[in-house]
Amino acid sequence: MSGPAQPSLGGATARVPAKVNLHLGVGPLRDDGYHELSTLFCALSLYDEVTVRAADELSVTVRGDNYREVPADASNLAAQAVLALARHAGIDDPSVAIEIDKAIPVAGGMAGGSADAAGALLAAARLWRLDLDRETLLDLAAGLGSDVPFALVGGTALGTGRGEKLLPVLQRGDFWWVIGAARTGLSTPEVYRELDRLRAERGEEASAPGRPDALMQALASGDVHAVAPLLHNDLQAAALSLQPLLRRTLRAGTESGALAGIVSGSGPSCVFLCEDEDAAINVATELSGSGVAKAVRTAHGPVPGARLVQPNHGSTR
Ligand code: ATP
Repeated sequence: MSGPAQPSLGGATARVPAKVNLHLGVGPLRDDGYHELSTLFCALSLYDEVTVRAADELSVTVRGDNYREVPADASNLAAQAVLALARHAGIDDPSVAIEIDKAIPVAGGMAGGSADAAGALLAAARLWRLDLDRETLLDLAAGLGSDVPFALVGGTALGTGRGEKLLPVLQRGDFWWVIGAARTGLSTPEVYRELDRLRAERGEEASAPGRPDALMQALASGDVHAVAPLLHNDLQAAALSLQPLLRRTLRAGTESGALAGIVSGSGPSCVFLCEDEDAAINVATELSGSGVAKAVRTAHGPVPGARLVQPNHGSTR
């Protein structure tokens, strides 16, 4: 999990990918308020960059897409990560300036806040020259949020528990995606509550979520046509119930030639799996023209998790 050698003098920068859930099975609500999950995460080449520099006081600056929707104070998940790391390492004065360059849609179901927390952990550890092993980093990450460990690990992984227990999964090939970001975000807890409400309304009892074996086999084969029909998200109905217009986005993407489209995680970003890069560019062009999404991007995956980089270099935007 350590990156290329880099002087810590001017600060340290980490680049962190967004995630999609290729499968999201949601089980019953646990006593601790979380739902039991069985999910297949895949990291995509849509990156936030987090820089941490020594400073006289703790500050957070956010730039890029929708920066106004992201808190620029100690409630920012990146600041929470720095404070948690300082507590762990016994650093009395965690005064740092945190700069976040956002490309991951905010409140979009693509774990942007979690990505920033993972990036801040790596960058602050480098700045403070801490030698942390992988287990310690993953424990700190899990304490910050269910999706933070995956942002560190990247690739394709099976997540269980509340999504924080990870096992790497073999995925052959590099798949191309189109991401349609929605005009307004969705609150993750609200989407889970809506799922519980819909289940109660239908008299459905949630059972323990099973492992998506068929999808894992299709991923191992590298056949994008076998993968596409197996994409699944238990939260999709809840996200569509809260934002019915997302149906139009899903329809527009599949009518433009995507192999499949689903709501990403708790939404409202919609993600479309495409046959190859050319197909993704065509789908993105049509989706942009249709005006159903606020912003449209292409990305590929799986890609590695959080990495230290030179500031503002090596980003794929
Ligand atoms: P997930 O998929 O992990 O449930 P998400 O991608 O739907 O999350 P985020 O982009 O992580 O959503 O944002 C959720 C909320 O967290 C935002 O509305 C914002 O107020 C808050 N937040 C705190 N720190 C950050 C950050 N660094 N980046 C984005 N949002 C943040």
